[in-house]
Amino acid sequence: MEKLIALVSDFDDTLFFNREAIILAAKDLHEIVEREKKGEEDCKTLSDLEIISRDGKIPKDFSKAWKSQLYTFAYGRYGEKLTPNKPIIRYLNERAERERSETIILSARGEEFRRQTKELLDTYGLRYNKIILPDNHYLKDEEWKLLEVEKLSKEYHRILLFEDKLDNIKYIENNLNSKNIEFYLVNRSFIINVTGQLPKQKQ
Ligand SMILES: [Mg+2]
Repeated sequence: MEKLIALVSDFDDTLFFNREAIILAAKDLHEIVEREKKGEEDCKTLSDLEIISRDGKIPKDFSKAWKSQLYTFAYGRYGEKLTPNKPIIRYLNERAERERSETIILSARGEEFRRQTKELLDTYGLRYNKIILPDNHYLKDEEWKLLEVEKLSKEYHRILLFEDKLDNIKYIENNLNSKNIEFYLVNRSFIINVTGQLPKQKQ
């Protein structure tokens, strides 16, 4: 039987940089929340939005309710501000050809952004076989990714996972039973194989 290999890649900040779009979206959302401010919870949201407008990074405990609105603005209104990580796109295309592997995009950005996601991949020439996005956002991103990676590990003999968030890699590696997965941390144009390198911790 043919050996099936999959390159599984995250999307945001791995293949495309979203900082500028997130910042612009956070500014828009800040205006809206400020206008409609109701209570204590909105004050926390406002201060988080200030952090996001400054750093372009979303705090881990940012309001779940506003998070999807933030993404809707970022990927809907400011989708053209996303910039490709060209060296990584090139690397994945070349590696897929060399290994005769499939390329799978695994992103927690949500089914609602499938069209935008596909358009960017097509525009910048990443050749992929499948895009996996969640139908809903009930689970935390890393929990949802773990379940999907587990499913993929039964379909493929070997998986190479590319991801920009070290915490996601730690979470998946610590909670996964399969041994056929290699983990690659992507930091701009750098790729580091971190398989088995991260300290074990109980999540
Ligand atoms: Mg990412």
